[in-house]
Amino acid sequence: MSHLRIGGITPFSTVDWPGKLACVAFLAGCPWRCPYCQNHVLQSFDAATQTEDDLFAFLEQRRGLLDGVVFSGGEPLAQSAAVEAIRQVKQMDFEMGLHTCGAYPQRLSEALSYIDWVGLDIKAPWDAYDRITGTQDTGRLVLESLGLLLDAKVDLETRTTWHPALLSDADIMAIAHDLASRGVRSWAVQAYRATGTTGKLPAETVYPSDLPEGLDALFDTFEFRRA
Ligand code: SF4
Repeated sequence: MSHLRIGGITPFSTVDWPGKLACVAFLAGCPWRCPYCQNHVLQSFDAATQTEDDLFAFLEQRRGLLDGVVFSGGEPLAQSAAVEAIRQVKQMDFEMGLHTCGAYPQRLSEALSYIDWVGLDIKAPWDAYDRITGTQDTGRLVLESLGLLLDAKVDLETRTTWHPALLSDADIMAIAHDLASRGVRSWAVQAYRATGTTGKLPAETVYPSDLPEGLDALFDTFEFRRA
């Protein structure tokens, strides 16, 4: 079995899985190159400093102290070993959360029965996806992942990072209406932050007042995040 490459572990977090006290494992590696990536160091598989042995030794000591474990990244499913690790975490009686960009629908389908909650990035209208990810043919993969999650009725939060130079008001409206029409019930808009990025984007951001009127009402749960 190949080893899981982990770039870091946050022992306790209350913000990475809404409503849960979770440990977060940041898996190394991502095939995409979003200009606002806040963990761009973790785009490389070589950013790993720990393995699954470190993670499972840590979790052994945290039984009963955590609600769950979140795999984040990078893109966690960029590593085939992530599917087996997800199964093992679940077997330890932790709830399992996943942050994903949706690039690996096949691996997502293999892991889905062990996952309790997913935070799925929705980066752009489907036909504009590649200009954010810097990679060809990406929207199709995310749409497939979203379909799997909706069909499986997994507890799902979709999230869109908004930089005004990358997404227009019309783009934001198109994303919101598309998600709502597909049955997505939870959407968060995350204002761009320069922290942790390569710093190449213009230093602009957005505020709640920039959000086109009425979009929040399309969802049961909506949040505008600045942090
Ligand atoms: S998909 Fe996520 S981890 Fe990968 S480059 Fe984009 S923001 Fe960074």
